Amino acid sequence: MTAQLLDGVALGQQLRAGFKQRADQLAAQGTRPGLAVILVGEDAASQVYVRNKVNACAQAGIHSEKYVFAPDVAPQVVFDKIAELNADPKIHGILVQLPLPRHFDADAVLEAIAAQKDVDGFRAENVGALMQGQPCFIPCTPYGAMKFLESAGISVKGKEAVVVGRSNIVGKPMAMLLMHAGATVTVCHSQTKDLKAHCLRADILVAAIGRPKMITGDMVKPGAVVIDVGINRMADGKLCGDVDFESAREVASYITPVPGGVGPMTITMLLANTLESAERSASA
Ligand code: NDP
Repeated sequence: MTAQLLDGVALGQQLRAGFKQRADQLAAQGTRPGLAVILVGEDAASQVYVRNKVNACAQAGIHSEKYVFAPDVAPQVVFDKIAELNADPKIHGILVQLPLPRHFDADAVLEAIAAQKDVDGFRAENVGALMQGQPCFIPCTPYGAMKFLESAGISVKGKEAVVVGRSNIVGKPMAMLLMHAGATVTVCHSQTKDLKAHCLRADILVAAIGRPKMITGDMVKPGAVVIDVGINRMADGKLCGDVDFESAREVASYITPVPGGVGPMTITMLLANTLESAERSASA
């Protein structure tokens, strides 16, 4: 079996075409959706992610503002900027690009973002709402992963889902979304014994580990849907996922590539959350 590709670029384009219409409609009513992105430091990957997000906003008719701070900036400067953006009616979403430098308390920074502008869905309040099944904003990466399943007509109800990784930004919200959608979910992490045995039970396998090609074809149940969240830069400069694409695609029914899978969908769902925030603000 060779798996069908879940193409994040194509699905993203399809969804984003509708976003432009929504943004223009809101703008005609006096509310141009706006996203502010804050970047602290000079991490090369973060710079690329921020650039991609800003470009995607322009294409979707969303106003964006980018604030770049030196790696040694005093945290108060960033808190002040967030307070200013919280009060700015042109801004409906605020995103702080992670990771932050070590002298920052990342949780405190995320908590400083107004709940109604937390389009990444990382504030504790939003995490709690997601857990209760009533999210204010769904974190963009797992949201994008769920969109793949929805768009391909893959039913989640009653399926065995295994999420490898338990981070706050990917693994945990991913598990929660799959559980709410009716899957029986297992979450694996670095202390999991016999990862392979867990993976082999998965009808839906999500890898969010940060270890290049760690999930190999022999760890995939025949016919499983494989969602590869990982983005790893190899010594030759190329990107690869946490799944060994070549061997896994021979066993899976569907698989996301890296690049071109979850990455573009994360940005797409950031745009979706910003639009939703602007729509809520316009109708308030
Ligand atoms: P974290 O480092 O925060 O979490 C990694 C998780 O993987 C942890 O829960 C860790 O376990 C687990 N893990 C590490 N080693 C193993 C192992 N040997 N066996 C089983 N589990 C293991 O990473 P993130 O969740 O932030 O990101 C994961 C990957 O996804 C990265 O490659 C990142 O670049 C990518 N990413 C991609 C995005 C996209 O848009 N496509 C967005 C965000 C992230 P433990 O908790 O025990 O340490």
